[in-house]
Order: sequence, then structure tokens, then C-alpha cells
Amino acid sequence: MDRVLASGAKGCRFDPCPAYFNTQFFFIVNDEYWMELAFQEALRSAQNRDFPVGAVVVIDEEAISRAGNERYLSHSPLGHAEAIAITRAAEILGDWRLTQATVYVTMEPCPMCSGLMLQTRIKRLVYGVPSYREGCAGSVVNLLDYPGMAHHIEVCSGMLSKKISDLMQDFFLDSRS
Ligand SMILES: [Zn+2]
Repeated sequence: MDRVLASGAKGCRFDPCPAYFNTQFFFIVNDEYWMELAFQEALRSAQNRDFPVGAVVVIDEEAISRAGNERYLSHSPLGHAEAIAITRAAEILGDWRLTQATVYVTMEPCPMCSGLMLQTRIKRLVYGVPSYREGCAGSVVNLLDYPGMAHHIEVCSGMLSKKISDLMQDFFLDSRS
């Protein structure tokens, strides 16, 4: 049994958010390490004036790919951090199916990225902060565990949420000044 509780309650060591109440799964030992790596990618996005979101794709405790949000940098509407990281992982592995992958992303995925996660059959998603505008892992809708869908993905939320929300807030403040 390699799954452990981060603390007493289900993954609630970090800032509680409503998405927790949909969380059926527990954090595992290295989740914080991988999310820290995703956070570093988010920092890089902010340096490029892109909204700070970062993602890492991990298989068997190895980071296959990592990326930050690049919508402004690449002028691409597909330039979300997790979309880039997932696409790169598939290219690196030579397989569009990522059935053993865990995706770490600092913010809850949008409809596009949730769709990509379903299409690539990822196993597990760990995200930092919820997106109440377009989050599709439980905040607005839960596409990743939707009745009738062929594929279902384990979801854990709230990892490093204080640090991530501080970064996002700083970005907003900086962009207004
Ligand atoms: Zn997205």
C-alpha cells in the first residue's frame, strides 16, 4: 500500500476547497515533489508574461515532460501547460496512450485539457488550485469521472494551493500595475 494520507483527513493538509469534497483518492508520497516541479514551470510562465500555470507528466516516478503555460509566448490557444506536457510525453514515449501517467498541474484543467487527459487515458491527476470558471475536474463539472464516459481518472486536489494562489494573485497585481 503505497498511498498515504498527507494528514488525518483526505488530502486536507493544504488549504481546503470545495473540490476536496469530491476527492475520493489520497495523495501519495512524492506528490509534493512533483507539484513543486510544476510550480517552477508556472514561475517560468509568469516570467514570459503568460498566466502562471505549470504541469509535469510523471510515469514510474520519472518526469517524462514538463511545461508552462505558453499561450502568449507561442501565440497558440492550445498552449496550456498540461496540454503541452501531455503532447510532449506522448511524443517522447512514441505512444498516444499514457495509461500509467500522473499529471501534476498547478490549476484545475479546463474542458480542452480535461478532454486531452481522457483521450490519452491518463491514470491520475493531481492539481493545485480549483478553477471556478472552467474547471472540469470537479469545480464546474467533473468530466474526469463522468457517468457514461468510457474512461475515468483519479483526482487529488489542493496540493501547494496556498503557494500557487499567491503566485496567481501576484501575477494579477503585477499585470495591473
Ligand atoms: Zn487547459
